[in-house]
Amino acid sequence: MDAPGTPLVVLDHVNKHYGDLHVLNDITLTIAKGEVVVVIGPSGSGKSTLCRAINRLETIDDGTISIDGQALPSEGAALAKLRANVGMVFQSFNLFAHKTILQNVTLGPIKVSKKSRAEADARAMELLERVGVANQAKKMPAQLSGGQQQRVAIARALAMQPTVMLFDEPTSALDPEMINEVLDVMVGLAKEGMTMIVVTHEMGFARKAADRVVFMADGRIVEDTTPAEFFDHPKSDRAKDFLSKIL
Ligand code: ADP
Ligand code: MG
Repeated sequence: MDAPGTPLVVLDHVNKHYGDLHVLNDITLTIAKGEVVVVIGPSGSGKSTLCRAINRLETIDDGTISIDGQALPSEGAALAKLRANVGMVFQSFNLFAHKTILQNVTLGPIKVSKKSRAEADARAMELLERVGVANQAKKMPAQLSGGQQQRVAIARALAMQPTVMLFDEPTSALDPEMINEVLDVMVGLAKEGMTMIVVTHEMGFARKAADRVVFMADGRIVEDTTPAEFFDHPKSDRAKDFLSKIL
């Protein structure tokens, strides 16, 4: 085991454009093992693009991104291996609609990690237990509530034994009464030492679980500080303006 504080995700002068739009503008960011970083910022500031770049769902124009000391490969088996190390949970739960809850969680371990079905099933049931939906294992995704589906999505990501978990607004599509059941699972993961990058506007989660808050605006990192400092003493006008709108 590496000591806490070892850099795990390192972005160095990362730039990306969509046509004329400079969507990631000279992003330099290091996330250490075990760190929980909340990324916050106005709509369109580049938060999702940042997550997708880390998972190599998007290419970058220049700069480097490395995970656990390995530069991001662009394709092939090395990329598949790296993707397996980065668990991602999106706003839309996007479970496989025609597979059971259990199959949703075992598919990756069986297909990608070449686990036996028995081993994958046992591990999946443990994970479903942990996120509180083991009793739903035989159902289809559409039979579950949004909060339950999002917890299955977390279990599915964890089944690949990722070294880092990315969450892109995981509770934004949920009815209000289901938000906490998902956040509670995330707080638990954070407490267990999972390295997490979480795009969210949930201040309670940021205050409770985050080591750092990264505030983005217009493709740039404008502030990178502790949650208490960010929420109580934002420095930039952009952050003050943003916080005045959401708090
Ligand atoms: P956020 O997640 O902070 O709301 P995004 O990363 O989704 O921001 O988007 C940042 C900007 O990039 C937005 O202006 C968005 O319209 C634009 N954008 C995102 N994806 C694409 C794309 N595939 N092609 C062109 N523009 C895009
Ligand atoms: Mg987004």
